[in-house]
Amino acid sequence: MRVYSIGVDLGGTNLRIAAVDGDGKLLEKLTTGAEVQRGRDFVIGEMCDAIQSLGIKYRDSGKLAGIGIGVPGFIDIDTGTVMRSPNLPDWINFPVREQIERKLGTTVVLENDANSAAMGEKWLGAGRNTDHMAMYTLGTGVGGGLVFNGRLWHGMSGMAGELGHFNVEPEGHPCGCGSRGCLEQYASATAIVRMAHEAVASGNAQDLADGARGNVEFTSRGIYQLAIQGHASAQRIYQTVGRALAIGIGGMVNALNLPMYVIGGGVASAWDAFAPTMFEELKIRSTIYSLTAPSRVEQDQKHTVVTIALLGSDAGLYGAARLPMLTSITQTEPVRSKGRRNRAIKPKGK
Ligand SMILES: [Zn+2]
Repeated sequence: MRVYSIGVDLGGTNLRIAAVDGDGKLLEKLTTGAEVQRGRDFVIGEMCDAIQSLGIKYRDSGKLAGIGIGVPGFIDIDTGTVMRSPNLPDWINFPVREQIERKLGTTVVLENDANSAAMGEKWLGAGRNTDHMAMYTLGTGVGGGLVFNGRLWHGMSGMAGELGHFNVEPEGHPCGCGSRGCLEQYASATAIVRMAHEAVASGNAQDLADGARGNVEFTSRGIYQLAIQGHASAQRIYQTVGRALAIGIGGMVNALNLPMYVIGGGVASAWDAFAPTMFEELKIRSTIYSLTAPSRVEQDQKHTVVTIALLGSDAGLYGAARLPMLTSITQTEPVRSKGRRNRAIKPKGK
């Protein structure tokens, strides 16, 4: 039977909603401002209106598998509750799944936005030919997601995959999570701009100082432009990004020996500025990587792939749409999923 579902990607600035069919074909995408400052009831209302209009428009496209919603923050996966979100200040212990299920009367799967992005890349992007992968989303912060056996790995209480808070500098820059030296403090867009300001303050980065005065856009993208034009201080910042990623990914390679590590998010578009350092450093930081790097093994042998994401900013939207489809696939299995609808998206872990 043909199925389709509706995916929602709620960010701090944009609310994006898409109808996607079972083969991953985009039927329609709507984008509006998230207007989170108008409060959570307003956002939920906008979301439900858009979902309903897509649901009516595409009701002849097959059976609606459900609604998948990706939101930034900590999620209680069992109850579909947003516990805390940095971008959604009044979403504290907010039972999103229950609210939307009550309004729309259909299956809703709530997921962390970085996990949704990992699922999107697994379904239709860089990870489409593998069943096991880790994904890093380099944006304002650094998010992460783990896919084992084709399903998201949630850990005990849904908080697994916080790869941005992997420590890469024991006494490094303080992190919003309370620790210091997290990957997020060296590989996010925020960190890149901070490191540029630090370089300017040190007095040894004239090219960046010019940038800070407005000659170039002083963002991670503007700093990337300086790096590819050959400005050494901008290149050093992206080398720091590459080194931090290598330490983070190297630890994961050693621990999990997965076949694929995918790097997405806005900062990933600066791939050619950080990737050479990252690959060089990975061979030093992880023996497992150095033994299994594509350049070290025969072409048809198993190897470790570290690669750029393919779906850009749509990864989270496609991944969110995929989640209720996986739930309904699992629901048709006997016994296992009985009465445990949304738990069914958890991997069949040991
Ligand atoms: Zn942290």
